[in-house]
Amino acid sequence: MRLTKKTTTISTAGSSYSRFINPTVREFIDKVCALEGAEDGFATATGMAAIFGTFMTFMNSGDHLLSSPAVFGSTHTILTKYFGRWGMQYSYADFSSEAAVRAAIRPNTKMMYLETPTNPGLDVYDLEWIGRVCQEHNILLVVDNCFATPLLQTPISYGADLVIHSATKWMEGQGRVLGGIVVGKKELVREVYLFCRQTGPSLSPFNAWVLSKSLETLDVRMQRHCDNAEVLAARLEQHPAVNWVKYPTLPSHPHYAIAKKQMCRGGGIVVFELKGGRDACTRFMNSLQLLTLTSNLGDTRSIATHPASTTHSKLTEEERLALGITQGVIRISVGLEHISDIQADIVQALDGLGV
Ligand SMILES: *Cc1c(COP(=O)(O)O)cnc(C)c1O
Repeated sequence: MRLTKKTTTISTAGSSYSRFINPTVREFIDKVCALEGAEDGFATATGMAAIFGTFMTFMNSGDHLLSSPAVFGSTHTILTKYFGRWGMQYSYADFSSEAAVRAAIRPNTKMMYLETPTNPGLDVYDLEWIGRVCQEHNILLVVDNCFATPLLQTPISYGADLVIHSATKWMEGQGRVLGGIVVGKKELVREVYLFCRQTGPSLSPFNAWVLSKSLETLDVRMQRHCDNAEVLAARLEQHPAVNWVKYPTLPSHPHYAIAKKQMCRGGGIVVFELKGGRDACTRFMNSLQLLTLTSNLGDTRSIATHPASTTHSKLTEEERLALGITQGVIRISVGLEHISDIQADIVQALDGLGV
């Protein structure tokens, strides 16, 4: 893989102050650029700093942002709580329909913003036509590629102008540090850099060093996450306590064909619905022995999350249902443990529901 090639020669030239750029941070940026097929990048303290910095760099008062309805909770809050204060507009479109997206474009639409696969619905959006529509209308296409990682999907190859990562998740992969990055076209990244070097969300060199080391194991880790997730998803589909299972490369997934086209593999997240709703989720989660109960994802250890009461608790019940987040939905971030251990723990907790 490209990671085995030396991508940088560490140089301190031009590194006058680490809020602007730092050689260790530069090394991390260059590695991610090599993986994403990007011309340049800027690394930030968190994923949210990369998202916020990108919005503030390009969106002016009066501009409109078109987003997929399912975005990370804090991104949703930036749009709903703060965009209006700065005179910026946003709206959502169903990115599984080209006609719906075309109809939602306004004369002042400056940016399209989406995640694919989405959290926690695991909808997969077709980057091919989305990239084409953005080019036609001269709209910036920004993709949060956190769930797929560049190992599984490279949005720039479909015309994305900028790709954002919460490096905190799969990229770091071991729950040690926070980080974020935005990569893409050189002239656009230059704008992000000029904004961020003054406003201060820069990545710390220590975290950049940790993240750089993480990239050296990204391939082996992601392959193992995917191996485990594939087996788990297929096993869950067989269990009588489970209503449905979503995993991008399960043939039953509604966007299976798109996933097969643009993703190498399905990723480390598996989502399913329990038949017994909220009560069954509580009993299921309380019976888990190996899995950690928290709302993080992309760690070495497997994690079970109840989105309706944690990551998506700020949404109204109606908004949640529109995203498919019922009270019975469980999200598993599948870790690096032996698959027999992960599966045994989940199956014993499901069996305990007595369905
Ligand atoms: C976690 C996450 C973020 C935010 O990243 P932080 O590093 O926590 O700031 C953004 N997008 C997605 C899809 C995430 O999972």
